[in-house]
Amino acid sequence: MLAPGSTIGILGGGQLGRMLALAAAELGYRCHIFAPEVDSPAADVAAAVTRADYGDADALAEFAGKIDVATLEWENVACDAVRQLAAMVPVHPGAHSLEVAQDRMAEKQFVEWLGGRTAAWAGVDSREALDAAIAQVGLPAILKTRRFGYDGKGQARIITAADADAAWEAIGQQPAILEGFVTFAHEFSVILCRGQDGAMVDWPVPVNLHKGGILATSSLPAPALVRGQAEEAVALARTVAEKLGHVGVLTCEFFACKDGPRFNEMAPRVHNSGHWTIEGSAASQFENHVRAVVGLPLRPTTLVANRIEMTNLIGDDVADWPKLMADPTARVHLYGKGEARPGRKMGHVTRLGK
Ligand code: ATP
Ligand code: MG
Repeated sequence: MLAPGSTIGILGGGQLGRMLALAAAELGYRCHIFAPEVDSPAADVAAAVTRADYGDADALAEFAGKIDVATLEWENVACDAVRQLAAMVPVHPGAHSLEVAQDRMAEKQFVEWLGGRTAAWAGVDSREALDAAIAQVGLPAILKTRRFGYDGKGQARIITAADADAAWEAIGQQPAILEGFVTFAHEFSVILCRGQDGAMVDWPVPVNLHKGGILATSSLPAPALVRGQAEEAVALARTVAEKLGHVGVLTCEFFACKDGPRFNEMAPRVHNSGHWTIEGSAASQFENHVRAVVGLPLRPTTLVANRIEMTNLIGDDVADWPKLMADPTARVHLYGKGEARPGRKMGHVTRLGK
């Protein structure tokens, strides 16, 4: 167990790192951000910052000398860099969690191996393989790059076979998977946290609404269909965490279909669909992640309100800040990002109700 006053290194400088650093500060820990960006939302609220590429071995070694433990808020750091860091200082979650979560193919195979159901899928590593995948999976389908996709980026829909050329171009002819289009009633996520001792907590599942491939809202309580599938989904997510030896928050996204939950993807970290836990739960995902990383016991995830809604402020939405700041029911979180580019997550608002 690391004592308060210790320093947590965080790989990644985005809003997730910002909220982790704020939660760490409340518990008396210092955070040191490692990120390539000049200005980062996390660096604004952290005790120290290293600006370097994730692959910079010298910078990582120096970083390791200044921290007591490391974690990450971005899962696309190269596994080799994480292993290099782990040879010098404890890193939670470990490289194995990243290895699986970075690659949509590895992720799906892992979850299927554990008995979870996913969309029909096939690997695609060439234009010819795409035709074979279409024959196997059927249409409509979505072509997704195996790596580096987020917020719907690196994806192209294929409605008829005539779309295949354009889709293969659109994703940059990269190693990919083709996923059959899932007819779902709702989307939801399981957010759990696993401690170093293997103890786990999970939060009640939110229903997630996406617009244009980007999360728009997460709300509780989820509809009855979702609540009825939560137990199965939580059990699968817990098994995933256990088999990975994961430490910290793990998020699994699911489609709620008529015939049960289908796993979509996982993130080995705190997640946008868990931001409501800051106000809506006895312990937030950020607090419990910090607790897991420093080896403290986890706190309960009990809801503090009957109705909870988190709305993302994307791009120009943030221009409404004067109105939102004046609204006594709105708990406003802004990430300190400069330019409100379209599709950029600028902040979020949480509302609790009876
Ligand atoms: P994020 O980083 O926002 O979680 P992502 O870019 O990693 O997203 P996905 O979660 O795979 O990508 O897809 C984004 C959204 O697109 C999903 O939440 C869902 O709404 C839709 N989607 C993805 N795959 C499918 C599918 N096979 N069938 C139907 N809809 C899908
Ligand atoms: Mg997703």
